[in-house]
Amino acid sequence: MINDEWWDLRKEFVARYPIDVEVGDWKGETMTVQRWADGLLDQLEAAVKPGAAGPDAAGGGGYGSRPPVRVGAVSLHAEITRTLKGWAVHFTGRRTPTAYRALSELGRVLPAIQYTYTAAMVSKMTDWRTRMRWVLGWESPPFAPRVPCPQCLALGMLRCWPTETWVECLVCRSYWTAETLGELRDRLRLSRELTHAR
Ligand SMILES: [Zn+2]
Repeated sequence: MINDEWWDLRKEFVARYPIDVEVGDWKGETMTVQRWADGLLDQLEAAVKPGAAGPDAAGGGGYGSRPPVRVGAVSLHAEITRTLKGWAVHFTGRRTPTAYRALSELGRVLPAIQYTYTAAMVSKMTDWRTRMRWVLGWESPPFAPRVPCPQCLALGMLRCWPTETWVECLVCRSYWTAETLGELRDRLRLSRELTHAR
C-alpha cells in the first residue's frame, strides 16, 4: 500500500530509531551498544541550526565541538521544508509553520489524496531520505568523479548526488545545483582542456 510507504517514510523523518554504535574491541570482537538516533529530519534540523558555523565559515570549523554546517545540509533542508509546506497548502489549503506540521497535516488528509499524488510524494520522500543519510554522514554518495574541483582544484573530492542534480566539493564546500550545473560542466571542460594543453 502506497499509504503505508508514506507513513514508514514519515516515521523515519521524525521518529527516533535504534542504532548499533561500535564502542571498541573486546577479545577480538567488535563491541556494540544500542543507542537512539533522532529522526532524519531532526538530525538535519540540528545540522543547520544557527550556532554551529554558518556556510560562510565552512572549512573553518565549527564553534566548540560542533561540526561545521554543511552547505548541502542547508540547501537540502530548505528544499524539504519548502516542498512539504507547498504540499500541505496544496492538499489541505492550510499554511503550516514548519516541515513537521506540514507532515502531520498531510498525514491527516492522506486517505483522501489520489494514488498518483501520494506515489509522487513517496518517490520524493525516498529521495530525500537517501540524501539526508548522505548529508548526515550515515552513507556515502556513490559517485566521486576523478576531476579537480573548479574552485579549489582538489582532485576527486567532488560528490555527485545522482537522483537530484547537485554536486558538492568536500574540501571547499562549493556546491552546484540544477541552475548552476551547466556552469560546472563548462568549467570542468575548460580545466580538462587546459590540462591536456600542457
Ligand atoms: Zn573545492
